[in-house]
Amino acid sequence: MTEESRPADLVFTGGRVHTVNARDRIAEAVAVRDGKIARVGTDGEITPLVGKGTRIVRLRGRSLVPGINDSHLHGVWLGLMWPGLLMDQLAGTGGHTHDTPTRLEGAEQRRRAILRTADLLASFGVTSYTEPGLGPGEDDGASGCFGSAALRDYADLAAEGLLKARVTALMLFGELDGRSSAAEFAEGLRDFKPPADVPGRFRVAGVKIFADGIPPMKTAWTDRPYGDGTYGSLLIEGESDGEREAALRAMIDAAHAAGHQIGVHATGDRTTRVVAEAFSTALAREGRDARHYIIHGDLLSPQTLTVLASGGIGLNTQAGIPVATEPMLAAALGEEALRDAWPTRDALDAGVRLCLSSDAPVLTPDWRAGLAAAVTRRGLDGAVRGQAQRLAVTEALRAYTITPAWQDGADDWKGSIEPGKVADLCVLDGDLHDVEPEALPSLPVAMTVLDGEPVYES
Ligand SMILES: [Zn+2]
Repeated sequence: MTEESRPADLVFTGGRVHTVNARDRIAEAVAVRDGKIARVGTDGEITPLVGKGTRIVRLRGRSLVPGINDSHLHGVWLGLMWPGLLMDQLAGTGGHTHDTPTRLEGAEQRRRAILRTADLLASFGVTSYTEPGLGPGEDDGASGCFGSAALRDYADLAAEGLLKARVTALMLFGELDGRSSAAEFAEGLRDFKPPADVPGRFRVAGVKIFADGIPPMKTAWTDRPYGDGTYGSLLIEGESDGEREAALRAMIDAAHAAGHQIGVHATGDRTTRVVAEAFSTALAREGRDARHYIIHGDLLSPQTLTVLASGGIGLNTQAGIPVATEPMLAAALGEEALRDAWPTRDALDAGVRLCLSSDAPVLTPDWRAGLAAAVTRRGLDGAVRGQAQRLAVTEALRAYTITPAWQDGADDWKGSIEPGKVADLCVLDGDLHDVEPEALPSLPVAMTVLDGEPVYES
């Protein structure tokens, strides 16, 4: 028997398989063998691979999509908070405000939080996520969720085979949502030794930098003044805007030279412009496939989008943020500012690699809610915010699968349903294209598969 004709371990037939390949092909059936996608095609092409030991999942018209990749999600923190969410608390609508723990105690609780998050994510169809910012900058942090010990916990759990998701981590040498300095950052780059990668399951890919805050708090660094005449500023230590900008550029240069991927929290239009330029400068000096990216990018001018696109720099944003907070941004910076706010459509049209994520526990880790927000831009109050920036379902699905795989430097082996790639899959009880976009969050997740093994079944 040739390798090609050896029976599959698992096959899916009679469905709508959203392959998310380069042409967004829809197939009917998939065969999985040894944890990998063996074949994608019609039922007729797949059934010859059914043998005695093959498990058959009859999709009966339901959807199969690649395992979802939530490319910006605080896993330890979510495991502590869930079902509490920050946005619920901010909006005053959550029922969990009073009983949500705010501090994690000890190694055992931290491990439990990570495992709890992985179980939760499996129930949503999520098979990969990025933990954006763990490290020595938060070793004495108030929540206990972002210190360097969590990097070791992830590595240990992955090595023990207990981590039911693929996790990419970014190191943090300053405070989460807080200050940092070029000096302590350089020290971190030089002295901090992250745990070794666990192939396929855990990888420390690079560093996270908090460049500024957020517009509603008047802490985003902007071109337009806030109502009180201020412009916000960078969070990097320095005596003036010029010094702070120079320090940020030096940090980006140093991390790039050290071979790291860099994700920068940047929300104000002045910050996103400076970060995009700094990435471009670093890449021009030493070209490599670095996959740097801007996180959030609330305000992005058309010129900045062009710099991102031409530099191969990604944008990682959360569609749930504009639908919930656009009025706050308009109140802080005026209606005019909305022109360049959360430009997901413009980013794709400009050729920027766009990832959508949850930032959980800021927003719900339910990607279906994020997908619906990206497609409708409709908030829970029914108002549409940024109608011109809406995405097609297919585009939003790419932003939760293949483009995050690109962000992970892993688009050659995960992120789409193509032969040879790992069998990370999600079965939906229905089809993404058959339901009204508003109803996408009600499409049940029936099954989640990681490396060819079911990790969740409803
Ligand atoms: Zn975040």
